[in-house]
Amino acid sequence: MAAKQNNISINSIKDESRRYKSTWGQRAWFACGCATLLISIAKSTLLIIAASPVGPLTWVELTLAALIGYVAADLGSGIFHWAIDNYGGAETPIFGSQIESFRAHHQHPADIIKCDTAGVLYVVSAATAFAVLPFNVLSGDAVLLVLVGSFAGFVMFSLKFHAWAHTPRRRLPRVVAALQDAGVILPWSNHVKHHRPPFDGYFCTVSGVWNRVLDEYKFFSAAEAVVLRVTGVRPRSWSEPGSDWSQVSD
Ligand SMILES: [Zn+2]
Ligand SMILES: [Zn+2]
Repeated sequence: MAAKQNNISINSIKDESRRYKSTWGQRAWFACGCATLLISIAKSTLLIIAASPVGPLTWVELTLAALIGYVAADLGSGIFHWAIDNYGGAETPIFGSQIESFRAHHQHPADIIKCDTAGVLYVVSAATAFAVLPFNVLSGDAVLLVLVGSFAGFVMFSLKFHAWAHTPRRRLPRVVAALQDAGVILPWSNHVKHHRPPFDGYFCTVSGVWNRVLDEYKFFSAAEAVVLRVTGVRPRSWSEPGSDWSQVSD
């Protein structure tokens, strides 16, 4: 009897760890996303070398392109997260699994740190590959490649920054904790406000730098009013704050 119970608990632990392990398909999509970003970096580097010596103005343009991509990615991550949290469902094409994952995340926030990186990032990695590849193939402009690569790269890894914001500090690599402290990537002190009532803000997950501004100017409330007027669809946060959004486990 005791042996049977032990077997059942070992099997349930195995099932649990399998649930959070990425599949080979998910790892392949993650690899495609990473490869696309690496091609952007390699091509822009080769273009700069081919054009050298480049003047100080070009270096300013390249630095600004990287910074604009980083700041815009925080805003982009917030708009994506807001849309996923508020509209569609499991049956929505392409994004259905993401919508379900984000809904589950509000109820079981700590589960995100049990998943491996490819399992968390594979959908956005696939989107990155499809969106960035045409620029890699067609563009010969290093500044444009840096801008697109920076934006796409930070959006792609925003879900990893989100997972790190939920990770206990003692389990974070030192460099990650330092980047969070410096506000370069999303700290828990910023993201925690997304998991508290009224569950209608703090969606940005790259650095979170936009969160306060968007909240103060009620950007997402205005966007929800526009969506309602144009499509007649109400955001989920208006009707389901008690069930879908509240945390039920650590
Ligand atoms: Zn959310
Ligand atoms: Zn979260």
